[in-house]
Amino acid sequence: MPENEDMRTEEKKAEDAASRRKEILRNIIEGKKMEAYAEHRTREMHMCFFCGEIIYKRKPMKRIGDKWICIDCLRELKEAMDTLEEWEREVVLGEKMRRHMVKTLQGLSSQK
Ligand SMILES: [Zn+2]
Repeated sequence: MPENEDMRTEEKKAEDAASRRKEILRNIIEGKKMEAYAEHRTREMHMCFFCGEIIYKRKPMKRIGDKWICIDCLRELKEAMDTLEEWEREVVLGEKMRRHMVKTLQGLSSQK
């Protein structure tokens, strides 16, 4: 009877050791999986050159030269490009007005 008990205890020990080994192996595999996943994600990960946002696949990005730019920044850039002529006209007009003001002020001060 006690011999039988001993055998059962030994069996249990062996089972425990086996399940521990299995657990360790499982952890190693999980670790490797995580590593591979992280590497995979890193390859998919890009930082937007303009806004600095780190983006995986959820937002479209375009590679320009060696920089990545997200679609939101590209849209803003396009809008800036599309309105560039208007913007330049405003700059020219602003400069003309400034020069006119300076002349007017110079004229006023020389009249004194
Ligand atoms: Zn961006």
